[in-house]
Amino acid sequence: MRKITLLFISFLFVGFNAISQLSTFDDTKVLANLKAHITYLASNKLEGRETGKKGEELASKYIIEQFKKLGLEPKGTNGYIQEFPFTEGVEYGKSTALAINGKSYERGKDWFPLAYSANGSVKGDLVKVGFGIIAPSMNYNDYKDKNNLQGKIFLMELSSPDGMTPHSKYKDYSDMRTKIDTAISRGAAAIIFVNSDTTADNPKGDFSNKTTPSKIPVVFANSSLATLLNSTATNGSMTIDIKRLTHTGHNIIGFIDNGAKTTVVLGAHYDHLGFGGEGSGSLYRGEKAIHPGADDNGSGTAALLEMARYLKSSNNKNNNYLICSFSGEEKGLLGSNYYAKNPTIPLASMNYMVNMDMVGRLKPDEKSLSIQGTGTSPIWHSLVDTIKRDGIKVKTTESGIGPSDFTSFYLKDIPVIFFFTGSHNDYHKPTDTEDKINYPGELSVMKIIINVMEALNDKGKLTFTKTKEETNDETPRFKVTLGVVPDYAYEGEGMRIDGISDGKPAAKAGLKAGDIVTQMDEIKVTDMMSYMKALSKFKKGDTVNLKVKRGAEIKDIKATF
Ligand SMILES: [Zn+2]
Repeated sequence: MRKITLLFISFLFVGFNAISQLSTFDDTKVLANLKAHITYLASNKLEGRETGKKGEELASKYIIEQFKKLGLEPKGTNGYIQEFPFTEGVEYGKSTALAINGKSYERGKDWFPLAYSANGSVKGDLVKVGFGIIAPSMNYNDYKDKNNLQGKIFLMELSSPDGMTPHSKYKDYSDMRTKIDTAISRGAAAIIFVNSDTTADNPKGDFSNKTTPSKIPVVFANSSLATLLNSTATNGSMTIDIKRLTHTGHNIIGFIDNGAKTTVVLGAHYDHLGFGGEGSGSLYRGEKAIHPGADDNGSGTAALLEMARYLKSSNNKNNNYLICSFSGEEKGLLGSNYYAKNPTIPLASMNYMVNMDMVGRLKPDEKSLSIQGTGTSPIWHSLVDTIKRDGIKVKTTESGIGPSDFTSFYLKDIPVIFFFTGSHNDYHKPTDTEDKINYPGELSVMKIIINVMEALNDKGKLTFTKTKEETNDETPRFKVTLGVVPDYAYEGEGMRIDGISDGKPAAKAGLKAGDIVTQMDEIKVTDMMSYMKALSKFKKGDTVNLKVKRGAEIKDIKATF
């Protein structure tokens, strides 16, 4: 599961209801199988199953082996496998270099390229442009009286005239991307950022797929080099040769063909955080360590395999079953997002999607199970009431959008239901280990899910309904929300919208899924980072002028927060 920001609104207390017998679940055998699956998946050998790494490959081999034994039909694009690309990290070419007044400086120690940097070679005079801010509303202009800037290397302070606080008057103009675009329009051939302001954090040298490069080389100089730059330096030369790395993730897709018109999608991601580290989603701070992800999501993967075994021999054959072991979930639902956009069975034939993510830690005392997506079809509510068993309490959340793979299917107008036994202290830490799994608890959750699916066998294709969003599409530090689900996998310029929340500013303004927001007032939106930055500048009641790319058209749209 991705970082959890769920809010549960209703808490249904549940008694005990007699349910139809599950004759084909051999409890002893299933419990032993679950333990064997999770023990292997969470073992050190698999090194935390990070997408695109060796551990993911080993895990995928294990799952494929199991799919074969179960007799599932391959439904990937290459047997069971469906590959998907993603970019992460960077490699430096040998020519990458920076020299000031003819003297070379060491990359990594003295300076480093920023994710906004383009490749290229530049030689030129240095020119100080202050903070590089033009703020007409405040009559402030760092470029005033500066002429002949064309082709020069701009030396620019990271901060603003009144610091980098949320109360800065210049915050509309001081984000790095805005400064870079301003500099380019003034003729900059390259930019060297320095930071003399203690209120401003130095930028990081990470290259994720959330930042798109600008048109010129952009680097950051650490304090020792910055001192020189601010005093005697007159000219510089730099060559930036970076290769953004493309990696491949692997979804594993199997199929149970009952000759039915509709197919139920059963999904659980198998990837996890690898060794953790910055930007991975790890909540652990310490020496790098394997994040075994026994609960997240060894538990869901094990349940998926055993439920596939059950469904294969089930007499309820009014649906086919697509068994999806997604990867890339922890990096932003990458695998399920890719699958929903490149499905190997027609989307129109998908009846509903069942997602399992962290189902192995049912608390023995509370016995509370979270079920999300109950607003995505009218049938869920009545059904949820009938599945209660063994004293399990059920918390329901209506929204079809949340931090796991069901979101990708909800955004394709498919009813979804997501099962989750709750967060815990070991979530996204090296301590999410196999010995903490509650196997009998997981088995009772699986029985609940099977009950739901069997109860739906004769119900035909479910009706889809959109949900009001209970979860934020942006983190809580924002005062406003546009009410959209950004496409985190989108790598082009701008913020591509994957879904629209009903009744929110974007919906009211007529924005649509597929639209690409490229500007909010005077702030250019080039990627997710700049979108978030732009968003933080508005408050409730503000109206924003959006530039939106819809197909080949550019539209001006006003939205009110
Ligand atoms: Zn997770």
